[in-house]
Amino acid sequence: MPGSGDNTTELGEVENVRVVVRVRPLNGKELDGHCKNVTIVDALNSEIIIENPNAVHGEPPKVFSFDAVFDTDSTQVDIYNETARPIVDKVLQGYNGTILAYGQTGTGKTYTMSGAKTSPQLRGIIPNTFAHIFGHIAKADENQKFLVRATYLEIYNEEVRDLLGKDQNTRLEVKERPDIGVFVKDLSGYVVNNADDLDRIMTLGNKNRVVGATAMNVSSSRSHAIFTITVESSQLGEDGEQHVKMGKLHLVDLAGSERQSKTKASGVRLREATKINLSLSTLGNVISALVDGQSSHVPYRNSKLTRLLQDSLGGNSKTLMCANISPADMNYDETISTLRYANRAKNIKNRARINEDPKDALLRQFQVEIEQLRKQLEENCAEISESEGETEDSEENVEMRRERKARQRRSQILTMNELDDRDIESREKADKAEKDNKSPDDKDVIELKRTQSEKEALREKMQNLQNKILVGGENLLEKAEAQEHLLAAAAVELEQRKSREEQLKKAIEEKEAERIDIEELYSSLQDAAAGKTKKLARVYTMLLQAKAELSDLQQEHQREMEGLLEGVRGIGRELQLQELILHNYIPVQYQTMIERYVHWNEDIGEWQLKCVAYTGNNMRKAQVTTAIGNNKDQPQPDLSNIYLSYNTGAENNLVQPRKLRGRSGVPRPTTAHRRTPQ
Ligand code: ADP
Ligand code: MG
Repeated sequence: MPGSGDNTTELGEVENVRVVVRVRPLNGKELDGHCKNVTIVDALNSEIIIENPNAVHGEPPKVFSFDAVFDTDSTQVDIYNETARPIVDKVLQGYNGTILAYGQTGTGKTYTMSGAKTSPQLRGIIPNTFAHIFGHIAKADENQKFLVRATYLEIYNEEVRDLLGKDQNTRLEVKERPDIGVFVKDLSGYVVNNADDLDRIMTLGNKNRVVGATAMNVSSSRSHAIFTITVESSQLGEDGEQHVKMGKLHLVDLAGSERQSKTKASGVRLREATKINLSLSTLGNVISALVDGQSSHVPYRNSKLTRLLQDSLGGNSKTLMCANISPADMNYDETISTLRYANRAKNIKNRARINEDPKDALLRQFQVEIEQLRKQLEENCAEISESEGETEDSEENVEMRRERKARQRRSQILTMNELDDRDIESREKADKAEKDNKSPDDKDVIELKRTQSEKEALREKMQNLQNKILVGGENLLEKAEAQEHLLAAAAVELEQRKSREEQLKKAIEEKEAERIDIEELYSSLQDAAAGKTKKLARVYTMLLQAKAELSDLQQEHQREMEGLLEGVRGIGRELQLQELILHNYIPVQYQTMIERYVHWNEDIGEWQLKCVAYTGNNMRKAQVTTAIGNNKDQPQPDLSNIYLSYNTGAENNLVQPRKLRGRSGVPRPTTAHRRTPQ
């Protein structure tokens, strides 16, 4: 079979999602409340051992193992080097990467992802990636060109908000295109020139996140934030062509994983609660579907979060999940739930590959544009020297030249879509002067001036584009330089510590093996009996563990079920309200008609109305706009045969326009409705 097995670059590298756990220190409230620490972090074996504070006698502690675990005293820099660094390195090679922080509110997700600005040691994963990325560019060779850009969005209540957008009230749409996949329409992306630029962007976004949260009177704990950095790099291939690779890094601070408390279930709050759970519970369902291996359908489409992170889970990405937990006994239930969730995610298999020459790369586009501008500029220069030497031309020649220049100008206007209005205005003025009856000499002077100002504009535009492209070897770290050194030094230290740990682990394992050998050398029957008793005790412990696990799972399911039922009750109530409004304001015939012309769009998860442009409110909008316009003398078009209005009926006693009635008495749309394309 073509492409099977041997072609790993095409299919990608198969690798499980890496999952690590970080335990934060007991906080002030927990210390004041005399909470007990119930977690043990076994860094050597990458295990979290947790004791049930309400354990029945003899119940052994639970043990969960992960790819790595981090104790309360682990530093931000350690976390970066052990978890994020390998992923960012891959992103710089053109792979996609994702880092997700999961856990109960207040356990350190935001601390891990963003950290504190107060000192370099306290900065989180996101700002550390800035230093890392620009450190890499500074060390790259000068044949390599880079383009780095960033976006920052938030999903709250299944609505997408651009945290870098001008208008924070705008809600954005999630769309899909066959060539580039799922994307957010109109999301602002910033091309950045250095680590400080990225830092400013992050700060701006974080500020908007906080502002939005207070305005809506909720804490940011219910929203998901996705900071995305795209790194494009180009290099001259052996075929003499420029090859672009593009790595996309999603840095995700998820909403708090705790279940909504039952007291909040009323009105608007409930609507929020039911929706906010959608993205998070769909994330859980996606993980389950991917892990259990039996379901052929993975419900990515069921929430905005999972649509946007489709590649990150079970797709083309190197993915890491950091589960954050509190060590306190009072959070035991949530902690167990987080550890279970994280434990399942370990089994997701991803298949990452280098993104070569992707359709949505900007670097190539910019390079082509720069080349075009350079050519135009050259022509322009030639033109200036030409017109300087050509003052005594014949009328005919001047005419031809003018014609040619006008043609060139027209094509320039088409390509220079970023030129501001001022330039266009001055060009128009010059054009007008040309048409006026002036002497050929005057015209030439104007022409020369115009060509020169055009040249300036072209040069400026080219410079703008060139500034966006970063050349390997440039030091663009600015203030982030110290950060880069800090990270690099810690990475070396980490290597050494790792190898020491490895040796230690081996030594322990050898000792363990020896001990078991000795145990098995029974010298007498008595020893054998003692050995069997020991074994029995061990098996008994296993039995107790399994029992505790079972009851935990049952409790967990019970809680989940209660949550779902509560959600169903809330939605039922919401439905009743909508029906109340519907039955009191929309006549039954119209309801039937709407039902007939509405269909469920599975792809975007929305109801869609056929010929929506002809619905009452849209027709009214159209009427209002024409009325505002200055063509008041023109008669308004007669829309009575297509505009279905029952609220104006009171005046002219026309509940439904007669023409539209079908045989059943239900209004039927005219052909105009049916013909209108969607
Ligand atoms: P979340 O985003 O999960 O709701 P935060 O990141 O806001 O939680 O953390 C809650 C509080 O705990 C913050 O004041 C944060 O500074 C502190 N904190 C979290 N993790 C740590 C840690 N590993 N070391 C010290 N303080 C921490
Ligand atoms: Mg947070």
